Amino acid sequence: MLLYRGAIPQVHAQLDYVRPLAEDAMRSLFGDRYDELEHESSRLLVPQAFVDSAGSAEDPRGVDAPLKDDDSLFRCFLDKRSVDGMDVSYDGNVTAAETCALRTSPAISMAPSGIANKYSMMGRNRGLAPFASYLHEFVHFSNYCLQHFPMSLANAVLFMSMRKNGLTAQSLDDYEHVLDDMSANPDLVLPMSFFSDMRYAEEAYTLAIEGEILRRMGVDDTCELFGAYVGRNEKEKAEMKNIAESLKDGDFSAVHRWHEKTEPDRPYRTNFRATVSEIGVERVPIEELWSW
Ligand SMILES: [Zn+2]
Repeated sequence: MLLYRGAIPQVHAQLDYVRPLAEDAMRSLFGDRYDELEHESSRLLVPQAFVDSAGSAEDPRGVDAPLKDDDSLFRCFLDKRSVDGMDVSYDGNVTAAETCALRTSPAISMAPSGIANKYSMMGRNRGLAPFASYLHEFVHFSNYCLQHFPMSLANAVLFMSMRKNGLTAQSLDDYEHVLDDMSANPDLVLPMSFFSDMRYAEEAYTLAIEGEILRRMGVDDTCELFGAYVGRNEKEKAEMKNIAESLKDGDFSAVHRWHEKTEPDRPYRTNFRATVSEIGVERVPIEELWSW
Protein backbone atom coordinates (compact mmCIF):
# COMPACT_ATOMS: atom_id res chain seq x y z
CA MET A 1 0.00 0.00 0.00
CA LEU A 2 2.82 2.44 0.77
CA LEU A 3 3.47 3.11 -2.91
CA TYR A 4 6.38 5.37 -3.73
CA ARG A 5 7.05 5.92 -7.41
CA GLY A 6 9.36 8.89 -7.11
CA ALA A 7 13.07 9.11 -7.84
CA ILE A 8 14.77 9.31 -4.44
CA PRO A 9 16.75 6.08 -3.95
CA GLN A 10 16.96 6.29 -0.12
CA VAL A 11 13.16 6.34 0.11
CA HIS A 12 12.88 3.23 -2.05
CA ALA A 13 15.57 1.44 -0.08
CA GLN A 14 14.00 2.12 3.34
CA LEU A 15 10.47 1.42 2.18
CA ASP A 16 11.53 -1.98 0.85
CA TYR A 17 12.81 -2.74 4.31
CA VAL A 18 10.10 -1.31 6.61
CA ARG A 19 6.98 -1.58 4.45
CA PRO A 20 5.58 -4.76 6.09
CA LEU A 21 5.99 -3.31 9.58
CA ALA A 22 4.52 0.04 8.58
CA GLU A 23 1.57 -1.58 6.85
CA ASP A 24 0.82 -3.70 9.92
CA ALA A 25 0.86 -0.53 12.03
CA MET A 26 -1.49 1.18 9.59
CA ARG A 27 -3.81 -1.80 9.42
CA SER A 28 -4.21 -1.71 13.20
CA LEU A 29 -4.66 2.06 13.18
CA PHE A 30 -7.12 2.45 10.31
CA GLY A 31 -9.10 -0.68 11.11
CA ASP A 32 -11.95 -1.31 8.71
CA ARG A 33 -10.90 1.65 6.54
CA TYR A 34 -7.52 0.16 5.72
CA ASP A 35 -8.83 -1.72 2.65
CA GLU A 36 -10.44 1.44 1.32
CA LEU A 37 -7.15 3.28 1.68
CA GLU A 38 -5.26 0.48 0.00
CA HIS A 39 -7.67 0.61 -2.93
CA GLU A 40 -7.36 4.39 -3.26
CA SER A 41 -3.61 4.23 -3.02
CA SER A 42 -3.28 1.80 -5.93
CA ARG A 43 -5.78 3.83 -7.97
CA LEU A 44 -4.40 7.33 -7.32
CA LEU A 45 -0.69 7.01 -6.55
CA VAL A 46 0.26 6.60 -10.22
CA PRO A 47 3.82 7.42 -11.35
CA GLN A 48 2.79 10.89 -12.52
CA ALA A 49 1.54 11.66 -8.99
CA PHE A 50 5.16 11.76 -7.80
CA VAL A 51 6.91 14.95 -8.62
CA ASP A 52 10.35 15.63 -7.31
CA SER A 53 10.04 19.32 -6.71
CA ALA A 54 7.04 21.37 -5.68
CA GLY A 55 7.21 23.47 -8.83
CA SER A 56 7.08 20.70 -11.37
CA ALA A 57 3.43 19.87 -10.81
CA GLU A 58 2.24 23.29 -11.96
CA ASP A 59 -0.41 23.06 -14.59
CA PRO A 60 -2.79 25.75 -15.79
CA ARG A 61 -5.75 23.36 -15.66
CA GLY A 62 -5.37 22.44 -12.03
CA VAL A 63 -4.96 24.66 -8.99
CA ASP A 64 -3.79 23.92 -5.54
CA ALA A 65 -2.71 26.18 -2.75
CA PRO A 66 0.95 26.51 -3.57
CA LEU A 67 3.69 26.95 -1.04
CA LYS A 68 6.87 28.80 -1.66
CA ASP A 69 9.34 26.30 -0.27
CA ASP A 70 10.74 23.32 -2.10
CA ASP A 71 10.40 20.85 0.74
CA SER A 72 8.40 17.68 0.58
CA LEU A 73 4.71 18.38 0.09
CA PHE A 74 1.39 16.74 -0.38
CA ARG A 75 -0.48 18.56 -3.10
CA CYS A 76 -4.18 18.53 -3.83
CA PHE A 77 -5.06 19.67 -7.33
CA LEU A 78 -8.49 20.93 -8.19
CA ASP A 79 -9.80 21.02 -11.74
CA LYS A 80 -10.50 24.66 -12.50
CA ARG A 81 -13.47 23.81 -14.68
CA SER A 82 -15.20 21.98 -11.89
CA VAL A 83 -15.27 25.18 -9.84
CA ASP A 84 -16.89 27.37 -12.52
CA GLY A 85 -19.93 29.00 -10.97
CA MET A 86 -18.79 28.20 -7.48
CA ASP A 87 -17.94 30.77 -4.84
CA VAL A 88 -17.73 31.41 -1.13
CA SER A 89 -20.04 34.14 0.12
CA TYR A 90 -19.19 36.76 2.77
CA ASP A 91 -20.71 34.52 5.48
CA GLY A 92 -18.80 31.39 4.51
CA ASN A 93 -21.56 29.64 2.59
CA VAL A 94 -20.27 27.88 -0.49
CA THR A 95 -22.52 28.37 -3.47
CA ALA A 96 -22.32 25.88 -6.31
CA ALA A 97 -24.41 24.53 -9.13
CA GLU A 98 -26.48 21.62 -7.85
CA THR A 99 -24.85 19.04 -10.10
CA CYS A 100 -21.36 20.21 -9.24
CA ALA A 101 -18.79 17.63 -8.19
CA LEU A 102 -15.25 18.75 -7.67
CA ARG A 103 -12.66 16.83 -9.66
CA THR A 104 -9.42 16.57 -7.79
CA SER A 105 -6.12 14.71 -7.93
CA PRO A 106 -3.43 14.11 -5.34
CA ALA A 107 0.29 14.48 -5.90
CA ILE A 108 3.30 14.01 -3.66
CA SER A 109 6.39 16.06 -4.21
CA MET A 110 9.49 15.11 -2.31
CA ALA A 111 12.79 16.88 -2.41
CA PRO A 112 16.10 15.86 -0.82
CA SER A 113 15.91 19.12 1.19
CA GLY A 114 12.70 17.86 2.85
CA ILE A 115 14.45 14.69 3.92
CA ALA A 116 17.35 16.74 5.24
CA ASN A 117 14.90 18.72 7.43
CA LYS A 118 13.39 15.51 8.70
CA TYR A 119 16.71 14.33 10.08
CA SER A 120 16.55 17.09 12.69
CA MET A 121 13.05 16.06 13.81
CA MET A 122 13.69 12.38 14.30
CA GLY A 123 15.87 12.44 17.41
CA ARG A 124 17.75 9.22 17.83
CA ASN A 125 15.74 7.65 15.03
CA ARG A 126 17.16 10.09 12.52
CA GLY A 127 18.32 7.20 10.36
CA LEU A 128 14.67 6.64 9.44
CA ALA A 129 14.27 10.14 8.00
CA PRO A 130 13.87 9.12 4.32
CA PHE A 131 11.06 6.71 5.24
CA ALA A 132 9.45 9.10 7.75
CA SER A 133 9.47 11.91 5.16
CA TYR A 134 7.52 9.72 2.81
CA LEU A 135 5.24 8.45 5.58
CA HIS A 136 4.35 12.06 6.43
CA GLU A 137 3.20 12.81 2.88
CA PHE A 138 1.40 9.47 2.73
CA VAL A 139 -0.57 10.38 5.87
CA HIS A 140 -1.66 13.63 4.17
CA PHE A 141 -2.74 11.40 1.29
CA SER A 142 -4.66 9.12 3.67
CA ASN A 143 -6.48 12.16 5.10
CA TYR A 144 -7.32 13.21 1.55
CA CYS A 145 -8.77 9.77 0.82
CA LEU A 146 -10.57 9.08 4.09
CA GLN A 147 -12.02 12.52 4.84
CA HIS A 148 -15.57 12.82 3.56
CA PHE A 149 -14.50 16.14 2.05
CA PRO A 150 -10.70 16.47 2.07
CA MET A 151 -9.46 19.33 4.19
CA SER A 152 -6.74 19.98 1.61
CA LEU A 153 -9.45 20.31 -1.02
CA ALA A 154 -11.39 22.71 1.22
CA ASN A 155 -8.25 24.81 1.37
CA ALA A 156 -7.94 24.75 -2.41
CA VAL A 157 -11.57 25.98 -2.63
CA LEU A 158 -10.86 28.81 -0.18
CA PHE A 159 -7.68 29.71 -2.04
CA MET A 160 -9.53 29.80 -5.35
CA SER A 161 -12.21 32.01 -3.87
CA MET A 162 -9.65 34.38 -2.34
CA ARG A 163 -7.95 34.64 -5.72
CA LYS A 164 -11.31 35.60 -7.25
CA ASN A 165 -11.74 38.18 -4.50
CA GLY A 166 -8.48 39.94 -5.04
CA LEU A 167 -5.78 37.86 -3.35
CA THR A 168 -2.73 38.54 -5.46
CA ALA A 169 -0.13 36.47 -3.61
CA GLN A 170 1.17 33.67 -5.79
CA SER A 171 2.15 31.65 -2.79
CA LEU A 172 0.46 31.61 0.58
CA ASP A 173 3.77 31.41 2.33
CA ASP A 174 4.46 34.78 0.81
CA TYR A 175 3.01 36.35 3.95
CA GLU A 176 4.07 39.91 3.30
CA HIS A 177 1.99 40.03 0.17
CA VAL A 178 -0.87 38.26 1.86
CA LEU A 179 -0.87 40.86 4.64
CA ASP A 180 -0.78 43.67 2.08
CA ASP A 181 -3.75 42.11 0.37
CA MET A 182 -5.65 41.86 3.65
CA SER A 183 -5.25 45.50 4.60
CA ALA A 184 -6.32 46.54 1.11
CA ASN A 185 -9.16 44.06 1.02
CA PRO A 186 -11.02 43.30 4.29
CA ASP A 187 -13.04 40.60 2.49
CA LEU A 188 -9.97 38.43 2.73
CA VAL A 189 -9.59 38.53 6.52
CA LEU A 190 -12.04 35.75 7.48
CA PRO A 191 -11.13 33.32 4.69
CA MET A 192 -7.42 33.95 5.16
CA SER A 193 -7.42 33.29 8.90
CA PHE A 194 -9.58 30.19 8.43
CA PHE A 195 -7.33 29.01 5.61
CA SER A 196 -4.31 29.44 7.80
CA ASP A 197 -5.89 27.59 10.76
CA MET A 198 -7.02 24.73 8.52
CA ARG A 199 -3.49 24.35 7.25
CA TYR A 200 -2.18 24.09 10.80
CA ALA A 201 -4.92 21.63 11.70
CA GLU A 202 -4.18 19.44 8.68
CA GLU A 203 -0.50 19.55 9.57
CA ALA A 204 -1.13 18.75 13.24
CA TYR A 205 -3.48 15.87 12.35
CA THR A 206 -0.85 14.50 10.01
CA LEU A 207 1.96 14.72 12.56
CA ALA A 208 -0.25 13.06 15.20
CA ILE A 209 -1.14 10.14 12.91
CA GLU A 210 2.42 9.85 11.64
CA GLY A 211 3.65 9.75 15.25
CA GLU A 212 1.10 7.06 16.14
CA ILE A 213 2.16 4.90 13.17
CA LEU A 214 5.82 5.25 14.13
CA ARG A 215 4.97 4.36 17.74
CA ARG A 216 3.08 1.27 16.61
CA MET A 217 6.15 0.31 14.59
CA GLY A 218 8.21 0.49 17.76
CA VAL A 219 9.83 3.84 17.01
CA ASP A 220 9.32 5.58 20.33
CA ASP A 221 11.18 8.84 20.09
CA THR A 222 8.77 10.86 18.03
CA CYS A 223 8.13 13.81 20.35
CA GLU A 224 10.56 15.90 18.34
CA LEU A 225 8.19 15.83 15.40
CA PHE A 226 6.50 18.93 16.79
CA GLY A 227 9.31 20.53 18.68
CA ALA A 228 11.54 20.87 15.66
CA TYR A 229 8.84 21.47 13.13
CA VAL A 230 10.52 23.80 10.69
CA GLY A 231 9.25 27.13 9.50
CA ARG A 232 6.73 27.72 12.31
CA ASN A 233 6.84 30.24 15.10
CA GLU A 234 6.37 29.20 18.74
CA LYS A 235 2.69 30.13 18.88
CA GLU A 236 1.91 28.14 15.77
CA LYS A 237 3.85 25.15 17.03
CA ALA A 238 1.97 25.31 20.34
CA GLU A 239 -1.39 25.42 18.55
CA MET A 240 -0.46 22.45 16.43
CA LYS A 241 0.62 20.55 19.48
CA ASN A 242 -2.71 21.27 21.21
CA ILE A 243 -4.62 19.90 18.24
CA ALA A 244 -2.48 16.78 18.21
CA GLU A 245 -2.86 16.35 22.00
CA SER A 246 -6.63 16.23 21.54
CA LEU A 247 -6.11 13.09 19.44
CA LYS A 248 -3.85 11.40 21.90
CA ASP A 249 -6.26 8.61 22.75
CA GLY A 250 -5.66 7.26 19.24
CA ASP A 251 -9.17 8.02 18.00
CA PHE A 252 -8.69 9.80 14.71
CA SER A 253 -12.33 9.96 13.67
CA ALA A 254 -12.25 13.73 14.31
CA VAL A 255 -9.68 14.01 11.52
CA HIS A 256 -11.89 12.22 9.05
CA ARG A 257 -15.04 14.06 10.16
CA TRP A 258 -13.53 17.55 10.52
CA HIS A 259 -16.38 19.04 8.49
CA GLU A 260 -18.89 18.25 11.26
CA LYS A 261 -17.27 20.66 13.72
CA THR A 262 -19.39 23.69 14.63
CA GLU A 263 -18.23 26.94 16.21
CA PRO A 264 -21.24 29.03 17.29
CA ASP A 265 -19.12 32.17 17.65
CA ARG A 266 -17.55 31.69 14.24
CA PRO A 267 -20.41 31.41 11.75
CA TYR A 268 -18.11 31.87 8.74
CA ARG A 269 -16.28 28.67 9.57
CA THR A 270 -19.36 26.71 10.59
CA ASN A 271 -21.19 27.70 7.39
CA PHE A 272 -18.20 26.89 5.23
CA ARG A 273 -17.73 23.41 6.71
CA ALA A 274 -21.42 22.58 6.42
CA THR A 275 -21.85 23.75 2.82
CA VAL A 276 -18.54 22.69 1.29
CA SER A 277 -18.99 19.15 2.59
CA GLU A 278 -22.30 18.82 0.73
CA ILE A 279 -20.47 19.10 -2.57
CA GLY A 280 -19.52 15.88 -4.31
CA VAL A 281 -15.86 14.94 -4.66
CA GLU A 282 -14.45 12.98 -7.57
CA ARG A 283 -10.88 11.86 -6.86
CA VAL A 284 -9.14 10.96 -10.11
CA PRO A 285 -5.56 9.95 -11.02
CA ILE A 286 -3.59 13.02 -11.97
CA GLU A 287 -3.11 12.09 -15.62
CA GLU A 288 -6.89 12.15 -15.97
CA LEU A 289 -7.05 15.67 -14.57
CA TRP A 290 -4.30 16.83 -16.91
CA SER A 291 -5.48 15.06 -20.04
CA TRP A 292 -8.51 17.27 -20.50
ZN1 LIG B 1 2.77 18.06 6.18
